Amino acid sequence: MKVDVNQTDELWDLERPKIPPRSSLFHLEPIGIGTPYVESITSYVARLAEAHSVAVGTLIAAEIHKKFSKSDDIQQYYYPSLVKVYGQYYIKSLNGTSVKAKQFVAALNQLTLRDDLEFLTLLTWAEVLPSQELLRTDFAWCPQCYQEWRDSSKVIYSPLLWSLQSVNICLEHHRPLQSICPQCHQKFVPLWQTTRPGYCLKCDAWLGGHYSSVLQHCPNIAQSLEWDIWVASALGELLSKAVLFNSIPPRDSINKAIKLYANQLTNGNISALGRFLRVNHYKFLHWHQGSTIPIISELLKICYTLSTSVVDFLQVKVNQITLDKLAILASKTSQRRRKSSVTYSSRQDIEATRAAMQQALFEEHPPTLTQLAYRLGYKSYSPLTHISKSLATAIKKRATDYATLKRQVQGATRWLG
Ligand SMILES: [Zn+2]
Ligand SMILES: [Zn+2]
Repeated sequence: MKVDVNQTDELWDLERPKIPPRSSLFHLEPIGIGTPYVESITSYVARLAEAHSVAVGTLIAAEIHKKFSKSDDIQQYYYPSLVKVYGQYYIKSLNGTSVKAKQFVAALNQLTLRDDLEFLTLLTWAEVLPSQELLRTDFAWCPQCYQEWRDSSKVIYSPLLWSLQSVNICLEHHRPLQSICPQCHQKFVPLWQTTRPGYCLKCDAWLGGHYSSVLQHCPNIAQSLEWDIWVASALGELLSKAVLFNSIPPRDSINKAIKLYANQLTNGNISALGRFLRVNHYKFLHWHQGSTIPIISELLKICYTLSTSVVDFLQVKVNQITLDKLAILASKTSQRRRKSSVTYSSRQDIEATRAAMQQALFEEHPPTLTQLAYRLGYKSYSPLTHISKSLATAIKKRATDYATLKRQVQGATRWLG
């Protein structure tokens, strides 16, 4: 047989194709990195567990915890209670700056082959934010955000911003975050054996909902929450910009910034700057020397008074402003606050609140007076009592009767069961 050497045969590439490394767990995309609404690591791990169709406690115990455990006893990974394998304190600190948070992120990065999960915690700010008063112990959420995400078929998750103790309101809706389930009236931790973003840990109720439309025409509510809005915006900016830092801001950023502000505003006089910022003299000297650093609520107050962002302060970027200008800004703010506290009780607000209180008496699951106050944008129930003592008493009584009845029904069910 004659072979035609000019004919091109089918070419076989015998080299093995390059297969990218496989991850043990799904390479799930975190939500909102680089935005104020970046997801929290506790929300991420809950969604990851859901994607694997296992309870989050099982995923943590079986995959993540064992990476740090020296024991070979496989039984310990299947305890029904997550607290037995991980510890309640550490579970609550996972979104923060702790060593456990660092280990948790490292394990999840390894298992998912991601390299960006640290931005779902406060680890970028570990050197400059003390853990004291940093994170909430109970989970908090914005019902309107959850509802809007569900209505528009978006992924339901929990932003890191909601886990910060200083953040009281939703940045998007300017309404107080909720921390009591409307169904079972209980609080719960941000992560547990069966956590699912958007649902109550205790009774599995959907946590989304719309705020009462009754108060939509009360613009003064947002005005009275000026400080809360500033805090949520400042911390939202902090979370969104974490991704831009090549290295974490060092601890001495704070005393460097204090020195620069003292030079600019009070000719280097630290005590005078401390007085202007209304900080205890000795405490301020310690901050200036770098022996201690302010906790987050103190840092927020300093930045607010200096009319600068928290991110700029921690980057030692000094706001070019004079003491006179700052004093004028401070007086305008206090005038606005005084004004808003007067208009807050305008006739229109009072009528709208009274109507909402009347409506609450007909709700299937009656809210407590405190829950109703939060829902309506108040910080405590006192204004409701002030507006209508009789309605407030009726709401209280209805909530108490409902809770008693519920306990009796639960008791009877247990007894029958
Ligand atoms: Zn919201
Ligand atoms: Zn519940």
